[in-house]
Amino acid sequence: MKKQILVSGGAGYIGSHVTVELINAGYDVIVADNMSNCDMTCYEGVKKITGKQDIPFVEMDFCNYGVVEKLFTDYKIDAVIHFAAFKAVGESVVKPIMYYKNNLLSFLNLLEAIQKHGACNVLFSSSATVYGEVETLPVTEKSPRLPATSPYGKTKQMCEDILRDTIKAQTNIKGIALRYFNPIGAHPSALIGELPRGVPNNLVPYITQTAIGKRECLNIFGNDYPTPDGTCLRDYIDVVDLAKAHVATITRMVEGCMKEDYEVFNVGIGRPVSVLELVTTFEKVNELSLNYKYVERRMGDVPSLWADTTLANEELGWKATRTLEETLKSAWEWEKYVAQKENK
Ligand code: UDP
Repeated sequence: MKKQILVSGGAGYIGSHVTVELINAGYDVIVADNMSNCDMTCYEGVKKITGKQDIPFVEMDFCNYGVVEKLFTDYKIDAVIHFAAFKAVGESVVKPIMYYKNNLLSFLNLLEAIQKHGACNVLFSSSATVYGEVETLPVTEKSPRLPATSPYGKTKQMCEDILRDTIKAQTNIKGIALRYFNPIGAHPSALIGELPRGVPNNLVPYITQTAIGKRECLNIFGNDYPTPDGTCLRDYIDVVDLAKAHVATITRMVEGCMKEDYEVFNVGIGRPVSVLELVTTFEKVNELSLNYKYVERRMGDVPSLWADTTLANEELGWKATRTLEETLKSAWEWEKYVAQKENK
C-alpha cells in the first residue's frame, strides 16, 4: 500500500514542487488548498509533469474545523505537510490579526483533527525567520530563537511551539519542522513556479519581472552593509532541492527513523550569496542586462543570514545539488512561461 500524504497549501509555490517530488518518489498525495493566494496553474502543472491526472484536490479552508475533520474521515492519511498559511512579512505587520487568526487557527484545527483520528506524522513548513536577528553565523538548529521581527515570523515560532507541545502530550503524533532559508527558482519544466500577486516583495520574482518588463527597475536595498560587496548575504535554496528535502523528511517519519518525536532541520545550501552576486549571475546565465539601482536599506533586513546544513545533510541524507546558475535559469524560464500564458 502506498503511503498517503496530505499537502495543505499544495497548489502554491513550494507545495506544488513538493507534490511533484512526492509522487516521483512513489507516494500518493492529496492536495488541499483554499486558493487564496494562487490559481490552478501549479496544480495543472503538477499533473502535466507527473503524468498523473487523478491527484485528489480538495478546495477547502483549514480555518473551518468541520472540513478539516472530514478530510481525515474521507482519507487514510499517513502524514501531513502543512504549508497553508499567509506568508507576506510586510502585510503581516499591517494586518496582524489576519495573520495570527489564519496561521494559528488552521494549524490548531489540523492538529485537533489528527488527535481525534489517531496516529499521524506532521511536517511543519517553518522558516529561518524564527531565528530573529541572529548574532552568530552560520545558523544552526541550536541557535537561539530570538524575538521574531514580524507577526508572520511570530506565527512560525508559535506553530513550532504548538507542534512541540502537542507531541509532548500526544504519543500518537510525531513532527518535524523544516526551517527554510530563501527558496527561489522553479521546476526545470517551467510548468510550475512562484506566482506573486501584485508587486513582489522577494528578490528573485522582482528580478524576473524587471527582466520581462513588468517592473521598470530593481531596487537593491542597501550597498553599505558590512559584507564583501556591501549588499546583504542570504542562503538561496533551489525550490526543487527544497522539495526533495521534504521527501527525505517524510520518508524519515513514515519509516520510523526519527531519533526524537519532534525534530527541527535547517534547509539551505549553507553558502552566503550577496544580492549583487545573485543579480550578476542572473544576467550572465540568461544573457541579458538587468536595470537596477541602489536605494536605501529596507527596514527590518539583517545584513547576513545563512544556514549550517550539517544536521539535514547527515540526518536526512539530503543535500542541495542544483547550482545557482541552474536555479536562476529556471526562474527566468518560468517568468517567460507566465508571460506567454498571460498574452494568450
Ligand atoms: N532585496 C532587494 N530588492 C528587492 C527585494 C529584496 O534588494 O526588491 C534584497 C533584500 O534586501 C534582502 C534580499 O534581497 O537582502 C532577499 O530579500 P527577500 O525579500 O527575497 O527575502 P528575505 O531574506 O527578506 O526573507
